[in-house]
Amino acid sequence: MTARVIAIDGPAASGKSSTAAAVARELGASHLDSGALYRGLTLIALELGHDDPTEIRSAAERRGLILRHDGAEIVPFLDGRPAENLIRSDGVTAAVSRIAALAPLREWVNARLREAATAERILVLDGRDIGTAVFPDASLKVFLTATPEARARRRLAQRGEMFDSDSIRVEATALAARDASDASRTVAPLRRAPDAILIDTTNLSFKDQVDRIVAAARKALLA
Ligand code: C5P
Repeated sequence: MTARVIAIDGPAASGKSSTAAAVARELGASHLDSGALYRGLTLIALELGHDDPTEIRSAAERRGLILRHDGAEIVPFLDGRPAENLIRSDGVTAAVSRIAALAPLREWVNARLREAATAERILVLDGRDIGTAVFPDASLKVFLTATPEARARRRLAQRGEMFDSDSIRVEATALAARDASDASRTVAPLRRAPDAILIDTTNLSFKDQVDRIVAAARKALLA
């Protein structure tokens, strides 16, 4: 049996993961942030010092880059420890789009995601290609977006840093570059599935965006 999947895709810092986690809580579902696995592979690539997908994949297997439950969250472990802090570094963020464009690594991640879904009843998954490539039959597909400036502002606020119009511009440029790279790769590029609900969160509160998705998910799960 595989889970009913709620797919939430969208560009960097569109609030996918925090929204998906809140949606999962409301639905009594589990949540998995697929980007975390790409970040885990990127951390391994940086440590190896090259981008050979076969070697990165072998190192991931050897070191046990795996998904584990932490309550309702399904999170990556590496070397037997939670990998969350290690995978959020600036170095990993700068390199992750390049590593995520490697087809053999995308296959490896997709196999892990589909395997994780077999153990769940309802799984809220967020990423770039969940509704288009990984779970094209998802019960509900959502594409979350917001202007680069709104996303940059939220990302900086999340880091707890002081920011002004210059730092917002720098962060928005970095986000736009990552989106352009994710949207232009040949394998499973970032794009909205034709049957995904588009939600522009630029002027929405967090609660409003969660409520909208929960309402749509409840309806879809009844169908
Ligand atoms: O979601 P997050 O920003 O942490 O994702 C990091 C990177 O992982 C993205 O910029 C993208 O290159 C890659 N990714 C992907 N497909 C997914 C999830 C993430 O290519 N489903």
